Amino acid sequence: MDLNIGNNLREIQEAVREFCEQEFDQESLQRYDDEHNYPRELYRKIGERGFIGVGFSEDIGGSGHGALGHVVTVTEMCSSLPGMGMALSLGYLPGFVVDISGTREQREQYIRPVIEGRYIASFSVTEPDSGSNIGSLITKIEDKNDYYVVNGSKMFTTNAGYADFYTLLGRDENALTVVLFDKKVIDENGARRFEIKDLGRKMGINTITSGKLVFSDFHIPKEYAIGQRGEGKKIALAAFELGRIVIAAQAFGGMLYGYQRAVCYAQKRSQFGRPIIKFQSIEHDLVDMYVEIEKCRNLLYKAAWLYDKKDPEANKYISMAKLTIPESAIDVLNRSIDIFGGYGYMRDQGLEGALRDIRVTSIYEGTGRIQKNTIAKILY
Ligand SMILES: Cc1cc2nc3c(=O)[nH]c(=O)nc-3n(C[C@H](O)[C@H](O)[C@H](O)COP(=O)(O)OP(=O)(O)OC[C@H]3O[C@@H](n4cnc5c(N)ncnc54)[C@H](O)[C@@H]3O)c2cc1C
Repeated sequence: MDLNIGNNLREIQEAVREFCEQEFDQESLQRYDDEHNYPRELYRKIGERGFIGVGFSEDIGGSGHGALGHVVTVTEMCSSLPGMGMALSLGYLPGFVVDISGTREQREQYIRPVIEGRYIASFSVTEPDSGSNIGSLITKIEDKNDYYVVNGSKMFTTNAGYADFYTLLGRDENALTVVLFDKKVIDENGARRFEIKDLGRKMGINTITSGKLVFSDFHIPKEYAIGQRGEGKKIALAAFELGRIVIAAQAFGGMLYGYQRAVCYAQKRSQFGRPIIKFQSIEHDLVDMYVEIEKCRNLLYKAAWLYDKKDPEANKYISMAKLTIPESAIDVLNRSIDIFGGYGYMRDQGLEGALRDIRVTSIYEGTGRIQKNTIAKILY
């Protein structure tokens, strides 16, 4: 395995870095966070610049760099400003389910506009009484010959009320099926059959919405099914595999952000007549962070590389990355706050916000404990 990302991806990495330096700033992020929204224009720009498409395949308008391509872009955006990088990447990450399992026409209709930064995606699996155990979900998708009828509710849907299309996993008789619906389907059903309840403020990533979706005899035409009927679990798990790599990349970017900020601050801040970086305990803290970053980089790149090679070992490495990197990111950001002292605790410094934003990476798309279950199942 070659850990060098190659010239092509390095150029993309530099272009993303330059873009973030120009377009992201802490003050605006705080404003978006308060407004519980961010400008669509920013998402459109990363689409137009080709950054969303880096990991998507060329037949649909991407650049074909696969999971490693997603890792490089998302890491770079999140290392610049974690909350902003997370929000933007969460615009397209839920679209993986359609890209991986949709038909050529569905990918043209929904994924090409995602890559161009015109569409925001969403994928609803979690329900009020069904989280980690997706096999227990009860939202019903009933087959009525020409169309499906959906009844039930979905919790924590990212981009609820903001997405251009929704995908959901529901129970179709005894198996699970994934269906898609867009604004046209919502309008045809009318307001009574579909309701979105915003879940309000959360610990972090408040620039994006998390909502509850409620379906009451909601009709979806048959052609909106994703993949084969009854294969929903397999389809969702395939999307989660790639999604978990990208979430580990969000956390990895957050680690880099915390480390870089801490190094700069420790070099500038003086106490007892010398820069605080000259205190061995601070220096050692930074070394610990650096070593952790290198360990995480190796694991993340290896997971993405194995995924792109379709290696049977990929799933184990993806779960290891999804388990470890969020925990390390939380630790690095915490240490970084300590190095900043009282200033680290203040909102305008951005570190406490980054820690709150990154915190969810150990929860969504499978908690750390669920990753351990997956690894254990593979190992023993
Ligand atoms: C900000 C945010 C955005 C989200 N976005 C989406 C989205 O877009 N779409 C979507 O479908 N979902 C989304 N989620 C939901 C998320 O994926 C779930 O919260 C997560 O999978 C955990 O499910 P749960 O919250 O129901 O916890 P539970 O499954 O109830 O788990 C509670 C605790 O029990 C542990 N646990 C459960 N089962 C086991 C087990 N077998 N062994 C050991 N420990 C176990 C868990 O690790 C956890 O610590 C989002 C969540 C958040 C917070």
